[in-house]
Amino acid sequence: MYADVILPLPLSGLFTYAIPAEMQHKIGRGFRVTVPFGRRKYYTAIVTKIHRQSPENFTVKEIQSLLDSTPVVTEQQLELWEWISFYYLSAQGDVFKAALPSPMMPADLQPGFIPKSETHLRINPTLDDIAISASIGKARKQQLLLDEIMWFLTETGRESISKREVKELTGYSPAVLNGLLRKEILHLFSVGRSRLHPKTAPTRTPYPLSEEQQKALDTIQSSFSDKQTVLLHGATSSGKTEIYIHLIHQLLTEGKQILYLLPEIALTTQLTQRLQAVFGDKIGIYHSGIDDQERTEIWQKMLSETPYEIILGVRSSLFLPFRRLGLVIVDEEHETSYKQQEPSPRYHARDTAIMLAHMSGAKTLLGSATPAIESYYNAQTGKYGLVTLNKRFGNIEAPLVSLQNTKDLRRRKKMKNLLAPVLMDEINKALENGEQAILFRNRRGFAPMVECKSCAWTPKCNHCDVTLTYHKKANSLICHYCNTSYPLPSGCPSCHEGELKSLGTGTERLEEEVAQLFPDAVVARMDSDTTRGKDSFERIINDFQENRIQILVGTQMISKGLDFGNVRVVGIVATDSMLNYPDFRSHERGFQLITQAAGRAGRRDKQGVVIIQTVDPQQPIYRFIIRNDYESFYQSQITERKLFKYPPFTRLISITLKHKDERKVESGAAFICQQLRQSLGNRVLGPNKPIISRIQQQHIREVLLKIDHHFSPSQVRELIKTAESRLKGNGDLKQILLYYNVDWV
Ligand code: ADP
Ligand code: ZN
Ligand code: ZN
Repeated sequence: MYADVILPLPLSGLFTYAIPAEMQHKIGRGFRVTVPFGRRKYYTAIVTKIHRQSPENFTVKEIQSLLDSTPVVTEQQLELWEWISFYYLSAQGDVFKAALPSPMMPADLQPGFIPKSETHLRINPTLDDIAISASIGKARKQQLLLDEIMWFLTETGRESISKREVKELTGYSPAVLNGLLRKEILHLFSVGRSRLHPKTAPTRTPYPLSEEQQKALDTIQSSFSDKQTVLLHGATSSGKTEIYIHLIHQLLTEGKQILYLLPEIALTTQLTQRLQAVFGDKIGIYHSGIDDQERTEIWQKMLSETPYEIILGVRSSLFLPFRRLGLVIVDEEHETSYKQQEPSPRYHARDTAIMLAHMSGAKTLLGSATPAIESYYNAQTGKYGLVTLNKRFGNIEAPLVSLQNTKDLRRRKKMKNLLAPVLMDEINKALENGEQAILFRNRRGFAPMVECKSCAWTPKCNHCDVTLTYHKKANSLICHYCNTSYPLPSGCPSCHEGELKSLGTGTERLEEEVAQLFPDAVVARMDSDTTRGKDSFERIINDFQENRIQILVGTQMISKGLDFGNVRVVGIVATDSMLNYPDFRSHERGFQLITQAAGRAGRRDKQGVVIIQTVDPQQPIYRFIIRNDYESFYQSQITERKLFKYPPFTRLISITLKHKDERKVESGAAFICQQLRQSLGNRVLGPNKPIISRIQQQHIREVLLKIDHHFSPSQVRELIKTAESRLKGNGDLKQILLYYNVDWV
């Protein structure tokens, strides 16, 4: 007998191995095995098929070992993997790697592998400071180690530290630690599920819904009787989350599981607290801040007799083994972070969620204040149900949005810093009333550009075709494409005469200037530079929520879904570069970003104020934003999309080609285009040299396919795969790297 398996490698196709006699009655689809592959390596693989068809043309190797006694990947998961690999043109091995937590595919393999729990240390809660110091006495090394551990616990707000962390942090000698253990100053315990999933009892029942909310909930439920997917278009702060809570409550009584998807880890903190208040420890949390060990435990719990009933997570939680899935909620469904960019599989979590729900006989609820044009189109044309919730909860008025023409203000010498006088006034008023402000800028770093005052030289990345961003705190120039960091030259290396000046404003400069303008306020910044550390998101969000920060400066990270009660003013510091970006989605993005950021203002009891600074107030998009008129905005967009054959009227597939040799990549791209044009004609655009045409030494060319509904996904797949194999058959071009991005966003 033979088994076809998926290997965790970016290779297309399945691989066949012989099943040793003693394994034949124990193995099946969804089991993990270890198999030899390549010169000397063994890999963990997943069995997808058992058959008797002996492979031709090569000698079959044997499976080395069987790791499981029951499948760890369910039938339904395998089906979903197959669909992702088919639809998004990715290798099954890539899907496998994205799906399974890495401890479940160990490199040094032992049969029956069970992930082990970590050993943690905590301070004996029955001892006070005096008792501890009496017990330590003159043992100086013990005191030092204990100090370091305590410092760590205070810094992280945690109650325990793992033995591994102690070792990494302090390089202690085991004897010192053992001393503390013998004196019972520290306790050892093993962290399994207990730390991850503390027993949290519910503290409240769902709030009674308002009349509007109840009506929306009823409509969602009745729509589900004939639609698999429903879009809830509800203004920011209209009470969508509370509706989800009622829906979840309902499904739990029916014994169903719920998957609650969020676009980003930053949003999970607030929502976890809110959901735990109602559902206690029925919830499992799954995102990139959860380490691999914990992911493995969650996976195993999902396979057990008592799985989590609710999973709250980011896109990767789609890959968990659900058994009784009843509903997937895709909150903030318009967010582009739902689309995986790198590495493959480049799947869209919203669309994959709909497919997963479909395969499970479950429903999908998409929620947004600013739906993606594609989703709204599907609702308009009846593919999805549509439920609208216009008013903010508690009848709080929508924020008052106004524009400030910064070009004009500068010309009239009315603008002395980065903020318009009106915005300054509003922030001052808010601060006087003990209220808060948010300032949004979509560029991180101090200055997006550095230039020589005399010869106009600008520093560029050595590996990419990009100008470098100046980061002041790091005192370096950083490439935002490959993360290489360069020291700031003291003078111009080109003319050796000029002085360097920095141009433009990133969040770091904004933070610095705002701190000077409002010396009595605590100013903090939230962007990907300040949120690297574990829990740093959480700390900033908590501090802001509890008023320890008055002004929060940040990138799009602060514009999404967060619920702060005390924010009166939101300033959008500059939007023009975003709206002028050459992409058919730039206005949609702009509309979503500004409306979402505006949604942070005045959520509880007062109307908020939103001020947009722009050099081009005539842009029609601002009228839609000011009037809060999504419908007209949608009409303007869908007309354009139809005219220029963009989604939802076509499917976009981008093909990226990379090679160190520019000439090669150019001929490769021309070759692919010529191949595809034979059947797709003018649906093939390119090859294009992208704005950033070299990243990490690789020259890049792009081909874009605009596929209308004459071609099915499988036809297009066939054409692309044929073109690819012809390219790979061409000796000169076969080294070119090819990347596909289906439903490119
Ligand atoms: P959205 O998800 O649409 O942004 P939320 O569900 O966060 O809106 O609701 C906005 C605010 O109103 C939150 O602070 C929430 O706690 C409160 N809220 C919403 N619905 C109710 C309700 N039925 N009863 C009491 N408070 C509610
Ligand atoms: Zn110069
Ligand atoms: Zn670079």
